[in-house]
Amino acid sequence: MPGTKHFTRMQYNVSRGLREIIAPRQTMSKADWARVLHEFGGMCIFCGSEGTAANRGIVPDHLIPVTQFGELVLGNTVPACQTCNDSRGEKAWRPFLRTRFPGDADAQIASVERHLAKHQYHPASLEGALSAEERETYLALVEEWEIMLAKAKALHSAAERRRKSAA
Ligand SMILES: [Zn+2]
Repeated sequence: MPGTKHFTRMQYNVSRGLREIIAPRQTMSKADWARVLHEFGGMCIFCGSEGTAANRGIVPDHLIPVTQFGELVLGNTVPACQTCNDSRGEKAWRPFLRTRFPGDADAQIASVERHLAKHQYHPASLEGALSAEERETYLALVEEWEIMLAKAKALHSAAERRRKSAA
């Protein structure tokens, strides 16, 4: 559909914002980030590069994405160059590594797994993070958002069809 790229971004941002109610720790301390960088030698866990102008530098990446309640804490945070971070998006990290960098995938996966063994992380859950009443409000919010998005898409399509038939 032409003209809907902002819908995708809007969906991502709202969905990420809503997930942060469940998984709020999204700011890592400088000391923890320095530790993560040190354990991976400052390299992107995907392509193995250092930060450069071309890959727009090394940034913290969530192994379990925020949209699946992952937090930016030790055990869920790895260094990734901005290019790999963008192209991975919400994909699971292991299949992304195997598809994108098949030659180095085994070694990179082993290095992440060593890191994970050292820093155990269990993602937040709806049940653990919210009271029964809060859960109800949260689920209603998610549903309202989905309805709103569907209405916005329907309105977009209707206007698009009208513009086309007028042309
Ligand atoms: Zn990379």
